[in-house]
Amino acid sequence: MRLSRYFLPVLKETPSEAQIVSHRLMLRAGLIRQHAAGIYNWLPIGYRVLRKIEQIVREEQDRSGAIEILMPTVQTAEVWKESGRYDDYGKEMLRIVDRHDRDMLYGPTHEEVVTDIFRSMVKSYKDLPKNLYQIQWKFRDEVRPRFGVMRGREFLMKDAYSFDLDEASARRAYNRMFVAYLNTFARLGMKAIPMRAATGPIGGNLSHEFLILAETGESGVFVHKGMLEKTVPANVDFDGDLQPIVDDWTSLYAATDEMHEASKEAELGDALVSARGIEVGHIFYFGTKYSKPMGCKVVGPDGQDVDLHMGSYGIGVSRLVGAIIEASHDDAGIIWPESVAPFKVGLINIKPGDAATDAVADDLYAKLEAAGVEVLYDDRADERAGAKFATADLIGLPWQLVVGPKGVAAGVVELKNRRSGEKVEMSVEAALAKLT
Ligand code: ATP
Ligand code: MG
Ligand code: MG
Ligand code: MG
Repeated sequence: MRLSRYFLPVLKETPSEAQIVSHRLMLRAGLIRQHAAGIYNWLPIGYRVLRKIEQIVREEQDRSGAIEILMPTVQTAEVWKESGRYDDYGKEMLRIVDRHDRDMLYGPTHEEVVTDIFRSMVKSYKDLPKNLYQIQWKFRDEVRPRFGVMRGREFLMKDAYSFDLDEASARRAYNRMFVAYLNTFARLGMKAIPMRAATGPIGGNLSHEFLILAETGESGVFVHKGMLEKTVPANVDFDGDLQPIVDDWTSLYAATDEMHEASKEAELGDALVSARGIEVGHIFYFGTKYSKPMGCKVVGPDGQDVDLHMGSYGIGVSRLVGAIIEASHDDAGIIWPESVAPFKVGLINIKPGDAATDAVADDLYAKLEAAGVEVLYDDRADERAGAKFATADLIGLPWQLVVGPKGVAAGVVELKNRRSGEKVEMSVEAALAKLT
């Protein structure tokens, strides 16, 4: 992509409404623009990051055996009346009346809708287990939308729903999601820690929240130091027994302040870290909480009806964009992990119009594109070199490849690593070899 033809509305001033660094950087780097409180437009580079995160989440859901569907954003109130949650959900639910005076709503979550699909289309235990997921926009009319996309009113969630014949099987489904989450956050370059969580209005009895540690997190957390050192197992067999992995990741103390036991402070002493965290994922096993009232059952092996055991599993896809920035930035701007960067390389021509420099930069651009490398080519004629470097640092692409007249005369270009700041001069061929 040539920057001269792109849409990258970078702000010069620091927006005053943004209280935390990720929100400031998302506005300044032109990732988002607010439409209304807690409702955002996703601008080109922001949307690219969102799609990359979404794709990693999708691949890890698929790997774990979950099956992707898409449910509507606008739902009928009827199914919520059946489950008993229509009144309980309160003001966070955006309620809508259609032209026929029917009660509708913009979905804050999809347990009812998916249970309705399942009860009408699945009749036998032979069709179990199943886990259906989607990546879909939600609306929750949060009292205090803030921190940009971290607490939006409209936000993108991955939500999965498992259906099993009994509790033992449902726990295996829970474990598959638990491990899929470890893999997902690791691929996003994040250390997310599973913590025992309260089950809240969704109900049930087994639940973990996954949190990324960050000073600006909204949750207080208490974590055994050893949790920070744990590594995610490679090449997991999702058909195998995952209990040992889950046991390992839940063997050390980790709790949000809601669940914290004060006695642990004396017991663990220096090993206990008190910090703040951002909730990026949440998994629940809630048994027959929805299947019973909604009549979601199948015929079991002995010919008797069985209420299905369910779980639900969320990841805050759009919140992750902010959370990743909270965890990965410096004074100059964002530092994207390579897996989610909007482009891998920022190619900077510091003197457009200089024939020799243009020739080398244009050629590099063509070769990188041909090799399938995502490159944003700063070919703007009306910006000074200093401004181009500042923009490149701000938007945080992993690599900056700088082409200027002096280097071109000496047969070299400069490659800068955004994270380490290291700059190395090398031949064009060496730079290509490094980046492709
Ligand atoms: P929170 O405690 O932050 O309000 P929640 O517990 O209400 O979140 P869940 O119902 O567990 O949220 O939804 C699953 C995931 O969706 C959360 O872990 C979070 O990552 C994301 N999420 C929830 N609310 C929002 C929001 N208002 N804006 C962005 N992401 C959100
Ligand atoms: Mg909430
Ligand atoms: Mg929560
Ligand atoms: Mg939650």
